[in-house]
Amino acid sequence: MTQPVSTRVAIIGAGPAGLLLSHLLSEAGIDSIVIDSRSRAEIEGTVRAGILEQGTVEVLASMGAASRVLTTGKRHDGVEFHFDGERHRIDFAALVGRSVWLYPQHEALKDLIAARLAAGQDLRFGVTAQGVEDASSDRPRVIATDADGRQLEIQAEFVVGADGSRSVARTAVTGSPTGGYFREYPFAWFGILTEAPPSAEELIYSSSPAGFALISQRSPEVQRMYFQCDPDADPNALTDAEIWATLQERVPGTELAEGPIFQRDVLRFRSFVAHELRHGRVALVGDAAHTVPPTGAKGMNLAVADVLLLNRALQALLLERDERPLDGYAETALRRIWKAQHFSWWMTSMLHTAPDASDFDQRRQLGELRGVVESEAGSAYLAEAYTGWPLEVGV
Ligand SMILES: Cc1cc2nc3c(=O)[nH]c(=O)nc-3n(C[C@H](O)[C@H](O)[C@H](O)COP(=O)(O)OP(=O)(O)OC[C@H]3O[C@@H](n4cnc5c(N)ncnc54)[C@H](O)[C@@H]3O)c2cc1C
Repeated sequence: MTQPVSTRVAIIGAGPAGLLLSHLLSEAGIDSIVIDSRSRAEIEGTVRAGILEQGTVEVLASMGAASRVLTTGKRHDGVEFHFDGERHRIDFAALVGRSVWLYPQHEALKDLIAARLAAGQDLRFGVTAQGVEDASSDRPRVIATDADGRQLEIQAEFVVGADGSRSVARTAVTGSPTGGYFREYPFAWFGILTEAPPSAEELIYSSSPAGFALISQRSPEVQRMYFQCDPDADPNALTDAEIWATLQERVPGTELAEGPIFQRDVLRFRSFVAHELRHGRVALVGDAAHTVPPTGAKGMNLAVADVLLLNRALQALLLERDERPLDGYAETALRRIWKAQHFSWWMTSMLHTAPDASDFDQRRQLGELRGVVESEAGSAYLAEAYTGWPLEVGV
């Protein structure tokens, strides 16, 4: 083992949560070390989230020239729902005076990584945490291995698990890698990335007799589309022509602009909230603390909300020796997390057809959709949740 290294905050994971936290801590003069098992190229090349809440955009925009969210991102003032041969637009701007932005997660990560490295951040790629020790002491440690298999120990005043849905830090907080409230869904999304112009100006959520589809975008040149599939579906079992036919059948009346498909994957749906978000001097943020099905576009947005709270708590702890915000971290964060869990579950169950759905279930679902789109109160709830509830703390 090499000589242990010391820092004030050790952060496992250079995803949106870990990088944003290191940025905010450094603005307050608090040093951190961030490690990630993946390479910089892998992190910057993985296409995931696309829809950012207004509050998330305001946080990223506060980085000024270091973030391109306002110059490259695209504001969406609404979203479309298609079902039973009808098309309805939920007008966010008119209903709640807020919007969402289409700005790919990997573009936000490129901004954050460049900004952190320019500021001299100790950011180590290819370093994998094996576990967190001494969580209850005031000197917790991260035990990690670098790309050459050498062991590394990071000693810190606080450890943050920002290491995604397969978090290793979770064991130090909840006592087990899976300690949490969990729900699995009987369907998944078959997702594609295609080199094609956008098929629509805004996102289309379509519930058709053939099943669910989401028509989304990533940039003027690259589009992201999904359709409901079996969780065990093989992403390579369909030809490109079969994929386009499946998608097209599920958005009747909208002509999809087709192009070469350069990525395809099957995305299982899970809802998870860890039993605890903090134990002693270790806390969880982002997907390490919770995961949501992607239907409501909440995952990265929740990660940002957690980070703002934990940043405030760590500043109080490390700069003022005030433990109260840290003691309240889990309770405050969980209020938003469970609201987002409900919204993600609700959008998912309202739009997808369960394999055992009866005629009654399908007709009830149409009634539910009409209850939302034909009612200002129903539409306003969706608009408020989709664009994001106010953040507890700003930047
Ligand atoms: C297809 C898809 C679409 C999505 N769309 C949206 C959307 O529109 N809006 C939205 O808000 N969210 C969306 N999400 C969810 C969003 O991508 C995640 O919620 C977000 O990435 C969570 O950020 P994070 O930093 O908590 O975790 P992650 O982004 O998972 O980052 C964790 C990091 O930790 C690293 N790591 C893991 N284990 C270790 C270890 N042992 N040691 C060191 N490093 C480790 C990983 O390499 C990774 O870089 C989507 C997700 C998917 C898959």
